[in-house]
Amino acid sequence: MMSTYIDDAGMSMSGGQAQVNNTTALTAYNPYDHDGAVAVPNVTAATFGFRRAEDGEHSFGCAYAIEEVLARLDPDGTRHMKDIYARLTCPAVRACEASMKALEPGADWAFVFPSGMGAITALVQVCCHHSIDGSPVRDVVIHSSPLYGGTHALLHTFIQRWGFTHVEVNFRDPKELRDALESYGDRVGLVFCETPANPTLDMVDIRMVREIMDEVFDGRRRPPLGVDNTFMGIFQHTLLMGADVAVYSATKFLSGHSDLIAGFLVGKTGIMTVVKPFTGDAVEASLMNAVLGLRTIGGYTTSSDVAQRLVTHMQTYVLRMRRQAEVATVVANWLATHPKIAEVRFPTLFEGATKEVYLRQCTGPSAMIAFRLREDNKAAAFRFLDALTHCVRAVSLGFVRTLVDHPAQWTHSDIAPGDQRRMGITSGSLRLSIGIEEPEDLIADLDQALDAI
Ligand code: PLP
Repeated sequence: MMSTYIDDAGMSMSGGQAQVNNTTALTAYNPYDHDGAVAVPNVTAATFGFRRAEDGEHSFGCAYAIEEVLARLDPDGTRHMKDIYARLTCPAVRACEASMKALEPGADWAFVFPSGMGAITALVQVCCHHSIDGSPVRDVVIHSSPLYGGTHALLHTFIQRWGFTHVEVNFRDPKELRDALESYGDRVGLVFCETPANPTLDMVDIRMVREIMDEVFDGRRRPPLGVDNTFMGIFQHTLLMGADVAVYSATKFLSGHSDLIAGFLVGKTGIMTVVKPFTGDAVEASLMNAVLGLRTIGGYTTSSDVAQRLVTHMQTYVLRMRRQAEVATVVANWLATHPKIAEVRFPTLFEGATKEVYLRQCTGPSAMIAFRLREDNKAAAFRFLDALTHCVRAVSLGFVRTLVDHPAQWTHSDIAPGDQRRMGITSGSLRLSIGIEEPEDLIADLDQALDAI
């Protein structure tokens, strides 16, 4: 079964997409499609004129994601949707989506959102629904833990108000996952995991999850599997391992400069959902079209300004991530030897089953390090944080400069202390997002801050 996904990958490899390297990051943009402009133009027009009325008809067919219209007007994919109105798309949005698609092996589509949370919220809204014209209710999200604090809040609080529910499962326990999928059955709208997880770097075996889903839903419509790949970026090709949708906070490594907020949903065709189009009865539609439809009508719009900056930064995404992973490896190895540190979590230092998942699933460690002070309390953690002179005390990650987070009091402070402990977050837990600095400079800063505890 595993090889199916690899074969899928093979197809896209022959299309030249599997080589995710600096050349891929650059050639996704073709200057000659934009009057030779080597930087993506920032076209700020709100509306775009149609050269001919037929172009308008074609573009609306695409924009409103009515598949028969798409098939009729674009049978061989040679005529592309034109820009209509900037809530739908614009040149910079199209350019950054083309780059994302090129940078994600196995991807058939990519849509940019105004934030990572916007992308995740849209995914839940597309996958979960009440009965549409008698179709089964899909009101359950089955998810791993821990998750980024915002995603945790979305699933634990907000979706309940929409009449949906969430089931937290230990994705490292195949039996627990299978039991949950079997007991909720057709009610499952979405299976969602984060790997490595924020902030503990727990890993989920994506192939294993997909295999269990295929077995449980054999012969029935399977819910989509969404994987938040924000932490691993170029080092983990989730779509090749069986995910249907890769989720990104593009605010992080993809943009890398902490000067914008954005997100992506990147997916494969073939996975279906039920939608009620603008006219007619409920129909099965591809997830891609459902996402595009919701983005258009829900107003999940990314401005040309943001998309233009994002696509410009994405040219150095591979370069930055490779460098950040190298620097992080040196820093993590050093932290692991420090007497004031009780535990360091970093992929190359994993042991046992987690190490096996890492080695099977990833081509590099990325640049996130979680560690716990031996003096495991808030006062010690805050003394350490306040003593830092180079590393910036800030949430977020993927920035070219190293950032330090205190999950218990900052990013994950909306999680009850008991739940934090269960997830492995304590008052002495810290999270580093390593930048592109010289490793010895980072080590010097961390060393003097550890001395201050
Ligand atoms: N997913 C992960 C793993 C994150 O760390 C974050 C933000 O920190 C998000 C999603 C949300 O992204 P954004 O802040 O762009 O909405």
